Amino acid sequence: MKIETVLCREGSMDNYAYIIIDEDTGVSAIVDAPEAANIVNRCLELGIKPEYILNTHHHFDHTDANIELKNIFGSKIVGAAYDEHRIPGIDISVRDGDIFKIGSLEAHIIHAEGHTTGHILWYFSKEKALFTGDVLFNLCVGGLFEGTSEQMLNSLKKIKTLPDDVMFYPGHEYTIHAIGFAMRANTGNSVMDEYVKIAQERLDKGLPVSPISLGMEKACNPYLKADSKEDIKNLF
Ligand SMILES: [Zn+2]
Repeated sequence: MKIETVLCREGSMDNYAYIIIDEDTGVSAIVDAPEAANIVNRCLELGIKPEYILNTHHHFDHTDANIELKNIFGSKIVGAAYDEHRIPGIDISVRDGDIFKIGSLEAHIIHAEGHTTGHILWYFSKEKALFTGDVLFNLCVGGLFEGTSEQMLNSLKKIKTLPDDVMFYPGHEYTIHAIGFAMRANTGNSVMDEYVKIAQERLDKGLPVSPISLGMEKACNPYLKADSKEDIKNLF
């Protein structure tokens, strides 16, 4: 699986869309659709016509370009059954535990409430890639727009059960906002020192901080280290 990161809404929301390509079959898909121009340009450069748009949740900065991309590429829009009523142009709905195929790639659907009630994660277990939308960011998590701290805790527990060598791909570049707090919460943690080094190197080059391994994230993200809903509440 080839994964390309596309920065969208730069400076306002700093969203990431991801282009994924199954190199065996040539079938491709886009994870989230914050804005059309950058995604279309990159698809044209790559010479691909994405068959699917995979939404993590309904928020406009993840679905705004659904219809435009669908009109340009004829892509099918795939989103959570829980959000059928509010994902623009949805063609195919998926639920927790489903497996959705992109060519020969298999995405496991994980329902992860907290940021919104219908949020899903796209997990490619064989390829060790997890698309976390607005649930998990580098060193922080998404705001509780619709869910409770208990729901967020449960969603983070699901992420924590996934293997350490899985790389995760978040919906926004928020590292710079989260790193100061994470450093204070991780004094003496050598993994955090390594994380800061990687993040600074990548940001200095104008690159996304992601992907980071879940092992490293579990060791450093204060929210992933929380054990109770009170811990989560306090962190917010
Ligand atoms: Zn969101």
